[in-house]
Amino acid sequence: MLYSGKTKTFCKGLCILGSKPMMAFFSMIFFNTPAIINMARAIPNFVERGLTIYLAVLMGILMFLTNLFSFMTAFSNPGIVGQLQNSLRMRTISNLSETREMDNYHLTVRGAYLSKIKFCVTCFVYRPPRTVHCNFCDNCVYGFDHHCKWLGTCVGALNYKKFIWFLIFLNTLEICNFALAISHIVLVAMDEPGRTFG
Ligand SMILES: [Zn+2]
Ligand SMILES: [Zn+2]
Repeated sequence: MLYSGKTKTFCKGLCILGSKPMMAFFSMIFFNTPAIINMARAIPNFVERGLTIYLAVLMGILMFLTNLFSFMTAFSNPGIVGQLQNSLRMRTISNLSETREMDNYHLTVRGAYLSKIKFCVTCFVYRPPRTVHCNFCDNCVYGFDHHCKWLGTCVGALNYKKFIWFLIFLNTLEICNFALAISHIVLVAMDEPGRTFG
């Protein structure tokens, strides 16, 4: 299958970069930094007091899973519908202008209306049902949910589950971060009541 638009494909379609792949790396820095600061400051404080080492293990696992699923969401195929090569486009344009078949179709089975099939004038393909053209990536995406600016790619039928897992792990990681930071502040305050934090 041929992809074009603003996406780039590698390894025979196994790795696909969205319109702004660097955004995924910036997002990873953004959500990893608080976790790394916590790992460096709060967890040694907890371990020193003999509280538990499992917190460090839990944070490590959560960080790994959050990064893994953000990577898998950002660099996998969201469900891009292949576009025509430039040479075929010209032929398609002339064929369609002759036959005037650029109109939308209604998909029916035994007379029962199922869905409307639209023609994408940018990709030059008839879109399957539930397919939307993403203006950021310049591609039609099957099962399009939204274009995620944080990951720089579309969320569609093929990476939707990965995106949901990414959100679950990211939220759990941030809740743990918040709880650790608050606990760290309370523990230090209990040790040195007059101390300010920095
Ligand atoms: Zn399109
Ligand atoms: Zn997109």
